[in-house]
Amino acid sequence: MGLLEGKRGLILGVANDHSIAWGIAQALHREGAQLGFTYVGEALERRVRPLAEQLGAPLIAPCDVNHDAEIAALMTRTQEVFGQIDLLVHAIAFANKDELNGPYLRTTRAGFLLAMEVSVYSLTALVKAAEPLLAPGAAILTLTYHGAQKVIPNYNVMGVAKAALEASVRYLAADLGPREIRVNAISAGPIRTLAASGIAGFRALHRSFAEQAPLRRNVTIEDVGNAALWLCSDLSRSVTGEILYVDAGFNIMGLSSAES
Ligand code: NAP
Repeated sequence: MGLLEGKRGLILGVANDHSIAWGIAQALHREGAQLGFTYVGEALERRVRPLAEQLGAPLIAPCDVNHDAEIAALMTRTQEVFGQIDLLVHAIAFANKDELNGPYLRTTRAGFLLAMEVSVYSLTALVKAAEPLLAPGAAILTLTYHGAQKVIPNYNVMGVAKAALEASVRYLAADLGPREIRVNAISAGPIRTLAASGIAGFRALHRSFAEQAPLRRNVTIEDVGNAALWLCSDLSRSVTGEILYVDAGFNIMGLSSAES
């Protein structure tokens, strides 16, 4: 029997088959979870629907997380299809390309607010709306990056957003813990996805990561999927409010000899 047999959940953030959310969806489905998927707009529906159908998804619905009405409609639909849910995966982030290039100091007010709304507040908005549907023992998972903790060139406002997202994980975990609902994040190493392609210099960062990480390689969406499986299963039932690094050990390193 699979680790997630009988579990039902929602996964937000599949844009295509390179998405981290797709790696997570495949791992959760492999262990028996039934998953609902979301998309933003018709163009994305055309890419997400065939993937979701591959996993026999009983729910494929629109949800732009910037609109409370779309979140509410998603939860209504979720209740109709699943009743309660045991899993909620948030793999969503966005910042304007202009903000992911050059000094952080140039961040605009509008760019800052947009990045925070899509990449940070959306987790709280989704959890708030999903709360009545969350079954005891449910697991909530989001995705963060090392740029929340250390300065990564060009990551800029997204680093600030990820720091706020990591703090949100702790506050939500404290709120929901008494109901046996857990909230965690995976801090993934760099992976070549649509979102990552917006960060200036990402290819070079991706290359140098593999040279510096203790395991001397990059991580894959399958690696993140398997770690997500652990965090979504009862195997991690006493883990909440944590940031799990899935980054081939990169975060434990100090300055490389070239920099020191
Ligand atoms: P991705 O495939 O481009 O996924 C990003 C997702 O966010 C897309 O599905 C995108 O949908 C969605 N999104 C953006 N704005 C949205 C909105 N207003 N409403 C709903 N969904 C929205 O890229 P990814 O790298 O897998 O990103 C997933 C998560 O992993 C993000 O939180 C990212 O910061 C994090 N992460 C990525 C890396 C990496 O190196 N790739 C490393 C660590 C953490 P649209 O395409 O329709 O906009």
